Amino acid sequence: MESGLSARDRVGVQDFLLLDNYTSEAAFIENLRRRYKENLIYTYIGSVLVSVNPYRELEIYSKQHMERYRGVNFYEISPHIYALADNSYRAVRTERKDQCILISGESGAGKTEASKKVLQYYTTMCPTRNNTQSIRERLLQSTPVLEAFGNAKTLRNDNSSRFGKYMDVQFDYKGAPIGGHILNYLLEKSRVVHQNHGERNFHIFYQLLESGDGALLKRLGLDRTNPQQYHYLVKGNCPRVSSISDKNSWKVVSKAFTVIGFNEEEVEELLKVVASVLHLGNTQFGEDEYGETHLTTEMPIKYVSELLGVEGSYLSEALTHKKIVAKGEEMIGPLSLEQAVSARDALAKAIYGRTFTWLVQKINQSLAFQVSALKCSSVIGLLDIYGFEVFQNNSFEQFCINYCNEKLQQLFIELTLKSEQEEYEAEGIGWETVEYFNNKIICDLVEEKFKGIIAILDEECLRPGDACDLTFLEKLEDRLGGHAHFVTHKLANGKIRKAVGREEFRLLHYAGEVNYNINGFLDKNNDLLYRNLKEVIMMMIEGFTLLSCGQAATQFKLSLAKLMDILMSKQPSYIRCIKPNDAKQPGRFEEVLVRHQVKYLGLMENLRVRRAGFAYRRSFEAFLQRYKPLCPDTWPNWQGKLSDGVSTLVKHLDYKAEEYKLGRSKIFIRFPKTLFLTEDALEL
Ligand code: ATP
Ligand code: MG
Repeated sequence: MESGLSARDRVGVQDFLLLDNYTSEAAFIENLRRRYKENLIYTYIGSVLVSVNPYRELEIYSKQHMERYRGVNFYEISPHIYALADNSYRAVRTERKDQCILISGESGAGKTEASKKVLQYYTTMCPTRNNTQSIRERLLQSTPVLEAFGNAKTLRNDNSSRFGKYMDVQFDYKGAPIGGHILNYLLEKSRVVHQNHGERNFHIFYQLLESGDGALLKRLGLDRTNPQQYHYLVKGNCPRVSSISDKNSWKVVSKAFTVIGFNEEEVEELLKVVASVLHLGNTQFGEDEYGETHLTTEMPIKYVSELLGVEGSYLSEALTHKKIVAKGEEMIGPLSLEQAVSARDALAKAIYGRTFTWLVQKINQSLAFQVSALKCSSVIGLLDIYGFEVFQNNSFEQFCINYCNEKLQQLFIELTLKSEQEEYEAEGIGWETVEYFNNKIICDLVEEKFKGIIAILDEECLRPGDACDLTFLEKLEDRLGGHAHFVTHKLANGKIRKAVGREEFRLLHYAGEVNYNINGFLDKNNDLLYRNLKEVIMMMIEGFTLLSCGQAATQFKLSLAKLMDILMSKQPSYIRCIKPNDAKQPGRFEEVLVRHQVKYLGLMENLRVRRAGFAYRRSFEAFLQRYKPLCPDTWPNWQGKLSDGVSTLVKHLDYKAEEYKLGRSKIFIRFPKTLFLTEDALEL
């Protein structure tokens, strides 16, 4: 090992599997802390890479570094994201097995930066075909475009991704990248109309206002001199951020559009939607003496209708009246002031959301193979998705995100155990029972047909009459009351559980308990849009692909199921990102914060699953090469069969039978201590 085990007290172990006391969370965190202090931000748990955000530029991402990691074995050199990227790539090249890299962690932990580093590694290090050079640029340039429309400044991260992203990089048989494909999940549409204090709307709004040229802004009816006049931009009271240059980003995004192959009209179409969202936000309503709602502002609607090509009167009508179908007949009814405001916001969210989906599809067209003769041999998928979220107040969004993480944990367990089992079988070692918590019970609780939380939510959304968030909670209590992982404020003995509010339910996730407030569950699940607003959208964005407005949790469940299928068919690698402090500062390692993430990332559980069998394994060749000086029979060279050499060596070292097993090509060592003693002997 490069760092040398004698240095372990100073810089810790580079693989948590080698921790003596692997069940101790304190030892785990201490190891992370020691390494972080030495700027060693990467540590393994076997093949899982744990990364701690350095919040400073480290000199470890140069081309020379990339070259250093090409083709080397995980254990030969200090842990690095390039080692993981290279490892997946080699499997693609040599075994033609599809790979995926799953990146998780809380907001600001470094997931997106990690995925960019992996992508940079592939676009820099992989061979090129003459006719596919541009694909590298397109792959890279898809990021700034998606970030402009899907990222925003939040309290936790100045460039926070507000959507989940899965991206396939496709390689040909020679290992050259020849295409890509992106799937997007759960864009946080509510941000379009509302931002918390200190947060911003999506970057593109500010970029356009700050840097769009005068003629363009005029065409869009926008006024740069006073961005504060746009209601959808002022809620967070945070128009400028010191770490963000909207001017520079605009330049980058404009160039990226060109590289990806958007023509000027297409870019302008997109910007028209951005502008029309701003105008929509400035649409105001009032009530007349009869209590009827009407528009009190003219210009904004005029702009929206012009920009989107929808008849103005139709749009005004759709914002103040609803069309419903009852007994096969269409009826028009007035909206209250409050309803009109939410209809306006719903429309803004819907057009932005659909535009984002359209944008992803356009990027996908650009990333599709440009040369029809090319054949994709294998892919590496990159998943950058929100980690477990636990706030003071958790709502529908956290419910969806945490459900997603629950599924990913299930996948992790299944695949890790599967690959352990396969390796034991391939090596001819008997299977050892692995003790672990199987979280399938929680996934079922959420997603099971007819019985799960999502099914009950859908049922309540479709039920006519008095269905509301509270009736939904009552139904949950009725049907799931006795479930071991579901809790409400009602105790079985009729008493009240104080830790759960009356409008909450609590799920006992694999990573810990989370209380969810049910307010807004039904509306958010319905993705509420009145019929005539849907028609408005149909009219205005010809060619923009429209998604159905079905029940969102179910839609999400289906797209998640699809994602799980995609991931299941691939060999996974994991990057677990940790945020060391909330101040976004280098050098600060806050233990309480880190401990929380170690828990919610399920890292101790990761370690336990991986350590359940053998802590360490190495090929006979590598093992002999390293330790042959310790035995006169193997030094300077062992002449016979490798397995005999290893056998001779470990007997000489006095390994006990329960400490190790010899497979067909590898030695498996159960306890790290055995390996440490051997390492120490090497240094004497
Ligand atoms: P979110 O869930 O909010 O999207 P994230 O996990 O994707 O968060 P990033 O945007 O990747 O977080 O990282 C947040 C910030 O942390 C970056 O803008 C950058 O300043 C810093 N950062 C993250 N990783 C690194 C790194 N490896 N080296 C230097 N700085 C980093
Ligand atoms: Mg991100």
